[in-house]
Amino acid sequence: MNIVKTISEIQKKIKKYKSEGKTVGFVPTMGFFHEGHLSLMDIAKEKCDIVVVSLFVNPTQFAPGEDLDIYPRNFERDEKLAISAGVDILFYPDLDEIYPKGYLTYIYTEQLSSILCGKFRKEHFQGVTTIVAKLFNIVQPNIAVFGQKDYQQAIIIKRMVRDLNFPIKIILGPIIRERDGIAMSSRNKYLSKEERDQAKIINIALKKAKEEFDSGIIEANIIKENIRKKIQTSDLARIEYIEIVNSVNLDSIKSVKSGTFAAVAVYYGKTRLIDNIDF
Ligand code: AMP
Repeated sequence: MNIVKTISEIQKKIKKYKSEGKTVGFVPTMGFFHEGHLSLMDIAKEKCDIVVVSLFVNPTQFAPGEDLDIYPRNFERDEKLAISAGVDILFYPDLDEIYPKGYLTYIYTEQLSSILCGKFRKEHFQGVTTIVAKLFNIVQPNIAVFGQKDYQQAIIIKRMVRDLNFPIKIILGPIIRERDGIAMSSRNKYLSKEERDQAKIINIALKKAKEEFDSGIIEANIIKENIRKKIQTSDLARIEYIEIVNSVNLDSIKSVKSGTFAAVAVYYGKTRLIDNIDF
């Protein structure tokens, strides 16, 4: 595996691969790999000749006061995991390689970026679309793989790709969970033992919502209220939002049907967890 720090070097390598007729699959990450990240690398490997993974903790998607400074990092561990996943290039740029002094340009996908998580994390998705657009221009992959764990992010990126004519196919990987159902996340590391134990209620509540839908309940308000009640049985949980939306344009819906999903954001202490389930 090659560890590449500069844009010029990665572009040279990609150009060579492409001149040999090889396809490139790309997985953007902020590192501190878990099975969720590795599953996306597996998908890229299945679909393409070459797998490129970026590891960059992107400051523009964190608001002041969020967890940028304490975001978990462990490059040596990530390097080993990437090697064992069969990654060809690990792109690990420094901050000023990506945002040199005087950087001024941002990408923003309207509407989709100001609802759900975007309502509470105002500049978050602008930071995400900006970094992903930059990485797409740098790596120029044939496909890019994102996790359904960050469903809104994936939908925004699909829209950006369509609106800005990136010749890149976006593929979504399913949510990878711990044995007790909690969605894997680099941020789970922040949870105390008690918070970690209680946080499994989030997935239990979402699975129950799916069961309710499967048994014939379709009123979104009823299903949302039941999710709320279930999560509130955990006394450390502070619910930020519970929404049921369609998976094309994230519109709120009244009647649940297939092609819609429930999304939640819940705080345990200072740790903000998100999860979702498809109906
Ligand atoms: P991050 O490093 O948290 O920015 O995530 C990098 C990619 O991994 C994003 O596409 C995420 O949606 C995806 N991802 C994060 N957690 C999971 C998970 N538990 N299962 C599947 N994909 C995930």
